[in-house]
Amino acid sequence: MPVYVQEDSIPKPNLAPPNAVDYDTTLWTEITTRDSVVIDLRYATTDNFTTSQIYPCGRCFLRPSVATRLLQLNRKIIKEKNYQFKLYDCYRPRPAQQRLWDQHPNPTHVTHPSKGSMHNRGAAVDLTLVSISSGQVLDMGTDFDFFGREARLDYIGHTDSIQSNRIYLQKLMEDAGFKSIKSEWWHYSLSGQGSALSSWEWQCPD
Ligand SMILES: [Zn+2]
Repeated sequence: MPVYVQEDSIPKPNLAPPNAVDYDTTLWTEITTRDSVVIDLRYATTDNFTTSQIYPCGRCFLRPSVATRLLQLNRKIIKEKNYQFKLYDCYRPRPAQQRLWDQHPNPTHVTHPSKGSMHNRGAAVDLTLVSISSGQVLDMGTDFDFFGREARLDYIGHTDSIQSNRIYLQKLMEDAGFKSIKSEWWHYSLSGQGSALSSWEWQCPD
């Protein structure tokens, strides 16, 4: 005689809905391609200056106030110039900072993990501009994470078009309260957000 099992007693597979939020939204905001940005987290690949993969998978998290400000700017540049941001790095967990340091222990290029950087606070972003019509990044004179003087904001040897692309990005970001650093044209941070250093690491898809 067959045994009938009541449907309620059959364990349901634990399937998360496709857009499940798997992080604390009071602490973090995730920026995705649904926000009309291009995401190219180089440290989630071997295409970075260490040639090692630093993040197990690429997800872009920022402190909520920083993310809100950044996405406001992205909407503005879409509307005004048909540009969008391309994000190379966002929040960087402290264990990842340690892995980066282990690969490249040079304080000129990598902040020592004990000190921590604005990326470890979720308050810094590495980015450039993409022309939506061509799908190409604007020429900023060097690639992301180029460690030469040509990456400096005060380098004067670039063409007028490179210079104007950089100035456009710098003015856009600084007018919204982001701070630049002289040595890296791609790096902007929003301080005063009271964000602590963090070791939290995001989940990766199975
Ligand atoms: Zn940076």
